Amino acid sequence: MGCTAEDLAAALRSAAVVVREHRDELVELDRAIGDGDHGENLRRGFDAIVTALDAATPPTPGAVLKLAATTLISKVGGAAGPLYGTALLRASTAVGDAAEIGPAEAVAALEAALGGVVARGKAEPGDKTMVDALTPAVAAATAVDGSLAEVLAAAARAADAGAESTVPLVARKGRASYLGERSAGHLDPGARSTALLLASLAATAAG
Ligand code: ADP
Ligand code: MG
Ligand code: MG
Repeated sequence: MGCTAEDLAAALRSAAVVVREHRDELVELDRAIGDGDHGENLRRGFDAIVTALDAATPPTPGAVLKLAATTLISKVGGAAGPLYGTALLRASTAVGDAAEIGPAEAVAALEAALGGVVARGKAEPGDKTMVDALTPAVAAATAVDGSLAEVLAAAARAADAGAESTVPLVARKGRASYLGERSAGHLDPGARSTALLLASLAATAAG
């Protein structure tokens, strides 16, 4: 049983709740090595996604992802809005007009999302960005031969470990890179939010 447009819209509403719950935490992380707006950027973006989903009923999961993507791109400034927006736009293209997202579509969507983030932001693993959470998430998802819930659980676990791995790193991309060596010893806010979002999707898929 796959994830329909309706299921995905519900999953994004749940993700918006998680983002709101972690808004202050993400602000604090970004205050340490950035400009302190990451939690608010995402809060605004995901609340705008909920508003967009209240106003429209996209017919396919791909259309839901596209609506979420364009909302993030238009409503969220800074680095993360366009990066997450591009990720969701590529994910939308990857699932095409499929009526449901199953494990294969989810893996394709995650791979495409990572490709979009890298194409837009040019970060490599080890640069202390969301790429450090998303890269192992894609690898773990790809290695699973199982259900959608299992694919997302593996992705979420790997993203969490990947996010934690950013703590000792010196940032080479984004605002945190302006700090040089002083960026070491802090969790990257974007890697943390990627782990939170994947954990939310995994929890929704697990039912
Ligand atoms: P801004 O830095 O513009 O205030 P946010 O605070 O919303 O934007 O997002 C910061 C996060 O964006 C960082 O923690 C990092 O994970 C991510 N990020 C920044 N630049 C890049 C990049 N070039 N590639 C991938 N991720 C990036
Ligand atoms: Mg910021
Ligand atoms: Mg900013």
